[in-house]
Amino acid sequence: MESLELPRHLYVHVPFCARRCSYCDFSIAVRREVPVDEFLLTLAGELDLRFPASVADAWNIDTLYLGGGTPSRLGGAGIASLMDLLRQRLQIADDAEVTIEANPDDVTFDAARTWREAGINRVSLGAQSFDPKALAWMHRAHTSDQILTAVESVRRAGIENISVDLIFALPSALGRDWRDDLRRAIALAPSHVSLYGLTVHERTPLARWRDRGDVTEAPEDTYASEFLLAHTALTDAGFEHYEVSSYARPSARSRHNASYWSGRAWAGLGPAAHEFDGRRRRWNVGPYSQWVELVRAGRDPMEGDEVLSPENREAERVYLGLRTASGLAVREAEHAKARRWVEEGWASLDDGMLRLTPEGWLRLDELAAVLT
Ligand code: SF4
Repeated sequence: MESLELPRHLYVHVPFCARRCSYCDFSIAVRREVPVDEFLLTLAGELDLRFPASVADAWNIDTLYLGGGTPSRLGGAGIASLMDLLRQRLQIADDAEVTIEANPDDVTFDAARTWREAGINRVSLGAQSFDPKALAWMHRAHTSDQILTAVESVRRAGIENISVDLIFALPSALGRDWRDDLRRAIALAPSHVSLYGLTVHERTPLARWRDRGDVTEAPEDTYASEFLLAHTALTDAGFEHYEVSSYARPSARSRHNASYWSGRAWAGLGPAAHEFDGRRRRWNVGPYSQWVELVRAGRDPMEGDEVLSPENREAERVYLGLRTASGLAVREAEHAKARRWVEEGWASLDDGMLRLTPEGWLRLDELAAVLT
């Protein structure tokens, strides 16, 4: 780490999954038996290599995010050991936001209670849909009933801050009822909802189905209508649409994700983890076995890095600003461009802050390009 101040936000990538979902191109390691000890030993090794005690002595963390992959595959005891390991090397603030991504089939009351005792206070649950047909098509390993049981278990264990992930814009041929999925998600009374439009990534089962002609992607107008339907349903239910993909009850915005959107520094550990020190990005090798080998050999598992040019940083400032409800501070010279967007209903411009509307967020890439 070249910056003098250590980041106050930490991401740990836990790559294990029960199987690969049909749409997923993340860096994962499919394992029936999760090598918990090997993973933790390697993580400790990466910390020692990259953040030795002389550097990390007074490393304070405000947000910790265990993402993946599926961190919940480490189980109750595995997560408790992971938290112990981190606490031996850094200080996690008393009021830190500590999130675990979990899949419903991994969540039991005992596991959730152990997570809470270990300091986890936010669970991001990969529900995606409540429709059995859609879940099977996505190769999800859980049932719709398991989503309900998981939420109940997490709550009973004393974790109130629950985020639910849903996927929209599934192929119409599936006959998935998006309105009903939103209704069922809202009925769970989560504090946060994250929405993802289905994207076909190359080298995924979904891309192969598409190339064979077995799947037709949802058209753009379905994407747009489902995005706008979600906005209406969730804001009517009291959620604030505070970022293009994110909705929160008051005071339940994701503090960790906000660090990414506001350009603050964060550290990343584990295979494929990215990191940003305010000036330079770096990322680790993706394959789990390669990450283990490099760390075992005493080598930094970095795959690449780049220092952001002033132009890159400005483009990022524009893009990140426009994706949040806080908006982007625009200069007088840019007001003329933005005025047309206001007339079209894509943005508002108040006191020099440009904020996209949901219709504007549907054009986020296009609008950001105009200002950079
Ligand atoms: S559980 Fe998540 S990370 Fe794992 S394969 Fe499915 S979408 Fe990818």
